[in-house]
Amino acid sequence: MKVGILGGGQLGRMLLQAAANYVVETYVLENDEHCPAAHLCHHFIKGDIKDFDTVYNFGKQLDALTIEIEAVNVEALEKLEQEGVKVYPRPSAIRIIKNKVTQKEFYKNNGIPSPEFVVTHNLEELREQVSFLPAVHKIGQGGYDGKGVQVIRKEAEIDKGFDAPSVLEKMVDIKKEIALIVAMNNKGETAFFPPVEMMFDTRLNLLDFQVCPAEITDEVLWKAEAIAQKLVKQLQSPGLFAIELFVDNKNEVLVNETAPRVHNSGHHTIEASYCSQYDMLWRIILDYPLGNTDPILPSSIVNVLGAEGYSGEAKYEGLDEVLKMENVFVHLYGKTQTKPGRKMGHVTIMAKDRSDLVYTANKIKHTLKVCS
Ligand code: ADP
Repeated sequence: MKVGILGGGQLGRMLLQAAANYVVETYVLENDEHCPAAHLCHHFIKGDIKDFDTVYNFGKQLDALTIEIEAVNVEALEKLEQEGVKVYPRPSAIRIIKNKVTQKEFYKNNGIPSPEFVVTHNLEELREQVSFLPAVHKIGQGGYDGKGVQVIRKEAEIDKGFDAPSVLEKMVDIKKEIALIVAMNNKGETAFFPPVEMMFDTRLNLLDFQVCPAEITDEVLWKAEAIAQKLVKQLQSPGLFAIELFVDNKNEVLVNETAPRVHNSGHHTIEASYCSQYDMLWRIILDYPLGNTDPILPSSIVNVLGAEGYSGEAKYEGLDEVLKMENVFVHLYGKTQTKPGRKMGHVTIMAKDRSDLVYTANKIKHTLKVCS
């Protein structure tokens, strides 16, 4: 079977690592020939994943396609689907999710709990929404990693908003941020990975750190799984979906956003789950049974980011020390150049006790440094 991946970043790289366990011929489309996935696929094609002709010509030789990012040419995927190429997730699902306006409207129309919102098309319309504040303004298309999000607490801050189609979302009193990955196969069967919890420990300067399983009550877990089940059924698409959720101070569970693909919040599943999110997606694409999502041990992830003040060829300080730690798994993405904040890799930690996870995560955060 010939399967293509649109995008060759770290998610594509880990997807290809998992593909090595199956009989599958892999193709990657990506503009940067030095991308993390380039040398792990059978066939690398240089090209723009946003361009209709490039995506169409890439896909028409293949049996199936998947994505590692949703900023792709959906029209080309729709044409390919009509011509019989299987696309995971379906282009109709990518189209809904790709734009935050249509994504939020989808939640509303399908009774999926999500923060209350209004749509604004430009700054003028935003300025009329003073009574809706405090709120969070999110650009419809093109925002990622917090770049398309502005917190607007009061009228004086309203011009921080976007002069483009966006959603203005009521500010939620967040108790916890969790993420849940759900998988659906071609038969409509589903499997849920245990939710992970995002930790924001400013005291320890541990801003980028996640623990699995999330510390939540059964009631919150059931709510989250019911939401995920409904969401994936209504999207009517096989594939893997990462749902970011807020738990508010009344223990209500609300969808923040969904990614229709393998996701950063599922990196730990490589070592810490019987079936990883990457393996799960291959099982779906290749029409094999869904895998076991149970955790082997509790785990956490620390992201390896380029240190402030260093740009150029990457050097890893403290790597030996981290590689000596027990039940610690280092993943470097093969990027040769570092810059401040660039995601260069991640480290997975496994331990029975949550306190050990936090301790080791903190230690790694202060030991491993990406310099130049
Ligand atoms: P991105 O897609 O760039 O990651 P998100 O929509 O996930 O952006 O928002 C980034 C962060 O902003 C969230 O993780 C959360 O902490 C905060 N946030 C987003 N929406 C709200 C909201 N409605 N109320 C309160 N905080 C929010």
